[in-house]
Amino acid sequence: MLVVGAGPAGSTAAHDLARAGHEVLVIEEHGRVGYPVQCAGLVSQRVLDMAGSTSMVRRPVHGATVFAPSLRSVSFHATAPRAFVIDRAGLDIHLADRAARAGATFETEVKFDRLVGVSNGAATVRLVDGQGRAEDVRARLVLGCDGVASAVARAFRLRRPVEILPAFEAEFGESPGDPDQVEVYLGNELSPGLFGWWIPDGLGGARVGVAVRAGETTARAFYDRLLKHLNRRFGAAFRAPTNYLVSGVPIGDVPRTSAAHVMLVGDSAAQVKPLSGGGIFTGMRCAEIAARVAAQALEAGDLSALSLSRYDAAWRAELGEELGKALYLRRLFLRLSDADLERIIEALQASEMRASIVAFGDIDFPTHVARDLLRQSPSLVRLFPKALSALIASGAPTLPEMDPGPRRQT
Ligand SMILES: Cc1cc2nc3c(=O)[nH]c(=O)nc-3n(C[C@H](O)[C@H](O)[C@H](O)COP(=O)(O)OP(=O)(O)OC[C@H]3O[C@@H](n4cnc5c(N)ncnc54)[C@H](O)[C@@H]3O)c2cc1C
Repeated sequence: MLVVGAGPAGSTAAHDLARAGHEVLVIEEHGRVGYPVQCAGLVSQRVLDMAGSTSMVRRPVHGATVFAPSLRSVSFHATAPRAFVIDRAGLDIHLADRAARAGATFETEVKFDRLVGVSNGAATVRLVDGQGRAEDVRARLVLGCDGVASAVARAFRLRRPVEILPAFEAEFGESPGDPDQVEVYLGNELSPGLFGWWIPDGLGGARVGVAVRAGETTARAFYDRLLKHLNRRFGAAFRAPTNYLVSGVPIGDVPRTSAAHVMLVGDSAAQVKPLSGGGIFTGMRCAEIAARVAAQALEAGDLSALSLSRYDAAWRAELGEELGKALYLRRLFLRLSDADLERIIEALQASEMRASIVAFGDIDFPTHVARDLLRQSPSLVRLFPKALSALIASGAPTLPEMDPGPRRQT
């Protein structure tokens, strides 16, 4: 079988399938796995558990400060680590290495070009190497783990009605700021559609970026505004970035993430947390689920659309409720004015709920604490009464059981 893309989703699926005894070829269009880095590199403990390693961790972070447009802020600080700053290229390399050791074959500088056709129980796809040479290969199953601009999704006509938020990030080798916490910057002038961030890199520097709603103003222009904001906040100038990153964050619900002979996993399926844009946890977890369904389908010799639709059902059963609620909250968030954001930060400053956020806040399942927060903070609910009362009434989303099988054995 063919895995397109050696990111966290592709290498996780490749590992599980190779370990189950299947022949797996992973193709990666870039020359080196993990590069160029297109990520701020903040992950939860779950990601480290799934990776079966902490080798890529640069440092734990214990808190976050969220800023309103006026720089009014609210801080959360926990005694235990709430997230980890990682070397993102290091994660991708570790996962690819683990998959290769399990028996998967990797070919770099090879790109999925298009679907040639489907016949006799397999898809024929055209691959193109770094010199432009084309080769047609047959695969009973293609896993499209090829990220936000997925060529596999297009080739197999899996419609993706997702919003792509343009993102721009710069890395600074030196930075002022507390290396034990991340900073989030809200505001329609600064980062409409999501937020801006300052994330310590664990080596004395920081990653500064924005992801914004697509529009006339570029993400780069919003990033420039954020940098001015940071200069005001820290009273110091950020100079000489060591690296720039331009990419996109897919947000939305892809109705079908599988069809005959194909599954989409990770960013290609918009398996991304709508409130943060983070997709490493969701992509890796869905890759584990995809590998399990793929192994059963390959063993049964049934790669039909119906057989593979069990993947759609399984990942939605585990993550669909959280992602759905987060999408809903995001729609409410998009309606907030800067004045509303100021009021929310003010309400949080005064709220006793901050302790609950610190105790129960979970970067992978943020709607859980959001619901409790809204339930206990009438001043927040007053900002958008009808919609929020519906959300609060909808009951507690249950956190999914994580399947410990593959992780324990790695
Ligand atoms: C600015 C920014 C910051 C982010 N920060 C975070 C964060 O802090 N935490 C977090 O959890 N998430 C973050 N994300 C999201 C995270 O990076 C993605 O969700 C995650 O990388 C998705 O993994 P993936 O394996 O699906 O896709 P990718 O990591 O994008 O991997 C896809 C791979 O496929 C390859 N590829 C693409 N097309 C082809 C083709 N045609 N043929 C062959 N190979 C191909 C690519 O080169 C790439 O290696 C961030 C995203 C952005 C844009």
